[in-house]
Amino acid sequence: MGRLFILSAPSGTGKSTVAQRLLESIDNVRRVVTATTRQPRPSERDGIDYIFMKKEEFLEGIEKGYFLEYAEVYGNYYGTPREQVEKNIKCGHDSLLVIDVQGAFKVKKEFPQAITIFLLPPSIEELKRRMKRRGYTDSNADLRLETARKEIPCATSFDYIIINDFIDKAADQLRCIILSSRCERDMVLKSIKKGPLVSKEIIELIQGGECYGKEA
Ligand code: ADP
Ligand code: 5GP
Repeated sequence: MGRLFILSAPSGTGKSTVAQRLLESIDNVRRVVTATTRQPRPSERDGIDYIFMKKEEFLEGIEKGYFLEYAEVYGNYYGTPREQVEKNIKCGHDSLLVIDVQGAFKVKKEFPQAITIFLLPPSIEELKRRMKRRGYTDSNADLRLETARKEIPCATSFDYIIINDFIDKAADQLRCIILSSRCERDMVLKSIKKGPLVSKEIIELIQGGECYGKEA
């Protein structure tokens, strides 16, 4: 079974930037490409950054149960394609889902084993600067900042919190979370049983050997 990592934060904190940096430096993690009805930004490519959909197409997708969760965010629809997530988990691929806070809660409810990570801006002033850099108008940024103030308290419900003061540091911490989860005892014991990761003798010792020195 692959694991699902959910990276969430208020808009403008740096989710996409940190996720991109992580994917350049880790093997075997697939990004879940979510769908949206908003217009692509100049650098964005269909099917890579988002699946860009017409509103009618998106509404039809909702009817057909195509989305694991969906939300209307700042006037556009966004949704997580159910099939991508389920397929990755079933095929044993780790996946990274980058979504807003309300979406993260909905997915966690359906996949309680998902690992949730909250990216925290170092300050509201810095969040404002990042939004400006992204080209939001003042009123647009004000609305997002108001939402951010309601989303930041949700950090306490996530499994991990990463402070995004420096991109490299934040991406490194995210990488460490994913790598260390790959060494969780039960995960490793299951993989050992399935494949030729260690010798037959080690498997036999792990399965039937007596642990020396453990207090009764
Ligand atoms: P989100 O996906 O959370 O909405 P983005 O990844 O689009 O946010 O980042 C918003 C802006 O902030 C971008 O201009 C990005 O380059 C910048 N940014 C992201 N992380 C940092 C950081 N640690 N320090 C400075 N600027 C950052
Ligand atoms: P943007 O338009 O800036 O790319 O994204 C706006 C917000 O929507 C971001 O917080 C982004 O993470 C979130 N988002 C992107 N895809 C999804 C999704 O599938 N579901 C939900 N709920 N939010 C999403």
